[in-house]
Amino acid sequence: MMKKSLTLLAFLSLLLNGFSQNTDSVFIKQIFDNALTNRVAYQNLEVLTKIAPGRLVGSEESIVALKFFEKYFKELGVDTVYLQEFKTHSWACDSSSVSILKTKSPEVPLRCDALGTSVSTPESGIIAEVIEVQGLEDLETLGTEKIAGKIVFFNRPMKDTFINTFAAYGDAVDQRAHGPAEAAKYGATGAIVRSVTTSLDDFPHTGSSRFPDSRIPALAISTLAANQLSQELKENPKTKVRIFVQARDLPEITTYNLVAEIRGKVKPEEAIVVGGHIDSWFNSPGAHDDGAGCVMSCDVLRIFKELNIQNNRTIRAVLFMDEEMFQSGGKAYADFVGQSGKRPYLALEVDEGAFTPEGFSVDAPDSIVNKLHSFKPLLDPYGIKYIRKGGGGVDIYPLKKSGVPLVAYVTDPQRYFDMHHSGNDTFDKINYRELNMGTGCVTTLIYLIDKYGVE
Ligand SMILES: [Zn+2]
Repeated sequence: MMKKSLTLLAFLSLLLNGFSQNTDSVFIKQIFDNALTNRVAYQNLEVLTKIAPGRLVGSEESIVALKFFEKYFKELGVDTVYLQEFKTHSWACDSSSVSILKTKSPEVPLRCDALGTSVSTPESGIIAEVIEVQGLEDLETLGTEKIAGKIVFFNRPMKDTFINTFAAYGDAVDQRAHGPAEAAKYGATGAIVRSVTTSLDDFPHTGSSRFPDSRIPALAISTLAANQLSQELKENPKTKVRIFVQARDLPEITTYNLVAEIRGKVKPEEAIVVGGHIDSWFNSPGAHDDGAGCVMSCDVLRIFKELNIQNNRTIRAVLFMDEEMFQSGGKAYADFVGQSGKRPYLALEVDEGAFTPEGFSVDAPDSIVNKLHSFKPLLDPYGIKYIRKGGGGVDIYPLKKSGVPLVAYVTDPQRYFDMHHSGNDTFDKINYRELNMGTGCVTTLIYLIDKYGVE
């Protein structure tokens, strides 16, 4: 008898489990139907890239972008919308140029953009010989004797042989991030860096360059320009270039993260954060990086509202300022929730472009990774290949120290670095379906986290 009722119980629970899986998959289909038939996120991204390209922290465009999303959330009728104010320093670039000097013909301009936070050159620029290197380790070999007074040209390409382009980026980016400061230690007067991109074209790709000590003018040139300069140096090792940068430090500015939320009906104090970064480099409309993450995060709230989901926990979109230069928005947000003692329940970052969904990576203890992984069968039909341990994201990273589980939405990485940090990151590179599939996947994961928790 006992055995029989246990079997019956097991059967019933299996049935119930199957039933809840089935009701979940039916509801998730509704989430995707909404995401895939709605043009709101796509249109928001079109407007954002039009009205606020180059929205680096401290720029007018960054405020235009904040106001645009603030208005959107207010019209959507979410429960709370506010700007979380903080102070930071910033930097702005006004103009830059690089050209090869020729003895008999005019200077040959190369497509370039200054790296943040390059210093300015004199009005007439800096003219110097160029020394080409393949990496930071070459600086030590050459030494001050061969480097002092010259412009160091870092020309190691991003490797095509990596399957994941983020790994290829990680392999090459030290030249941009640390090369100029290292070159300065050997007395270089300036630095030129080959754009860290998978493309061979004429777009310069900027990015941040760290200067712990003394700063020198530093610029990125396009990959085509890098090849041209390298060829020129092969033919004439004494080739000189002129570099010019006009940039400003902004010592203290007031700026904001944008926060919008739908309050939880059962556990409002447990907030699930979804966000991207609102800023972009000065040279870029920032469609994939990270306008896409912003409009997708906005769309998660829209779908929750339109489907009238009775969320247990608070669903909170955070659009972070200044991911690109100093990550001041992410830090300010972590401080803000830290001080109020209201650490989020979980945070999910969307900052890998609007490409075909691939998976989610989770920075949390194994038990939480396993729990999130248990949702994967429900996302299988929508192309999610994995939910596994991995990195969270730059903006949400400061929340890690207070124990917040972090999740990153991961997309097909093959095309991201064609556009990254360049004028090529335009709205026309956004595919309507890929963007909306991403919104569907992110909304679904948040829906499941809210419904079942992660413990
Ligand atoms: Zn980004």
